[in-house]
Amino acid sequence: MKRFISDKVKGTKINDVVFEASQGAIEASQREGGQNVVNGAFGTFFDEDGDLFTFESVYELFGKVDRVQIAKYASGIPGPKVFRDAVKDWLFTRNNVTLDSEVIATPGGTGALSSTIKNTLAPGETVVYPKIGWGPYKTIASQHNVNIATYDMFEGDAFNIASFRETTSDVMEKEGKVLVFINDPCQNPTGYTMTNSEWDEVLRHLNMLSDKGPVVLLHDIAYIDFHKEAHYGRIFNKYRHLSENMLVVLAFSASKTMTAYGMRVGAQVLISSNKDERIAFKHACENTARGVWSTVNNGGMMTFASLVNDKAANAKYMKEKEWVMNLLEERASILMDEAEKVGLELYPYKEGFFITMKITDDTKKDAMHKALNDSGIFFVNIKGGLRIAICSIQKAKLRGLAKRIKDIVDS
Ligand code: PLP
Repeated sequence: MKRFISDKVKGTKINDVVFEASQGAIEASQREGGQNVVNGAFGTFFDEDGDLFTFESVYELFGKVDRVQIAKYASGIPGPKVFRDAVKDWLFTRNNVTLDSEVIATPGGTGALSSTIKNTLAPGETVVYPKIGWGPYKTIASQHNVNIATYDMFEGDAFNIASFRETTSDVMEKEGKVLVFINDPCQNPTGYTMTNSEWDEVLRHLNMLSDKGPVVLLHDIAYIDFHKEAHYGRIFNKYRHLSENMLVVLAFSASKTMTAYGMRVGAQVLISSNKDERIAFKHACENTARGVWSTVNNGGMMTFASLVNDKAANAKYMKEKEWVMNLLEERASILMDEAEKVGLELYPYKEGFFITMKITDDTKKDAMHKALNDSGIFFVNIKGGLRIAICSIQKAKLRGLAKRIKDIVDS
């Protein structure tokens, strides 16, 4: 029997573990006044008073954007030139990187991920991403009716290059083409950042694999601005030495960079020495933009361009960001030191918004998640563990948290 929804659509209720856990935390706070509730579900940065943090530098600039600019469509489907140039300056010029690239504005990093899958794979082909990764990757993949293959993130405390090689080689063998995601630096949900030599091994392998068929590397850089080392440029510069059969798509999210999650600004940055194919891919993505969301929030793009080009605002932003990063580091130290003392196992965290407890047994993990919720502690239940958003937990609530968790686990 025919239904309103297409045969290709399931029509099942969305199961978004992040929004679900956040809702639980909100309801518990309303019920219990918030004193004993630990909200480690939100993936957005909250200050020590428990308020959503917003960069003053960014919102001063937003306030100055001409209202005609806010009201109008963007001047061009891939975004205004001033925005596209600003993205390149932000990622490349200030990091001493010289790369030929194309920029297409997208609604957040999510738009960049979705458009890349759509324009790389046909329905039935396979996208590869890490087993422990950002939950919505699965939802985005299912929107394009593609299959999923996952690689193990870790071998001990290091990136699991063997699993990465095996999974991508297997897909190349079967399908003659590979689209693979890497989320680095500050991986969501573990907070891992790959080392220089891990990157070398990944790129050496992908370069070799591209002898057999096209390789598209989707490099999800959602948290790049919270990387402690200032020079991620040394990773981007490696993209100068890739084969003609490789395309790198950076998925940039201004949501985190500007604390502007709802503004929906992001970009795809296309890098390949194969200029004809790079341009063809750009055209495909522009068609997707026009046919799916039209243009991106112009006021948001103008704000980002001002942030890059206004020296005084930029200096103020850097200062504010340093404060955020120091606070993240303090929060991480509290949790990690105490976790070590009480013997709570964590994935190898280096930096960023999230730390994840390692629990590989699903039954145990689900039971623990429920027991923690019942005690007013809200984390996100993901594959392989429970994600603790240190970005949203104040230091006072982090102190003693590892022991509280351990006591609940033991009981
Ligand atoms: N990639 C990762 C790893 C993320 O954590 C997020 C957002 O949380 C995104 C992409 C998408 O970000 P946006 O909100 O800009 O769409």
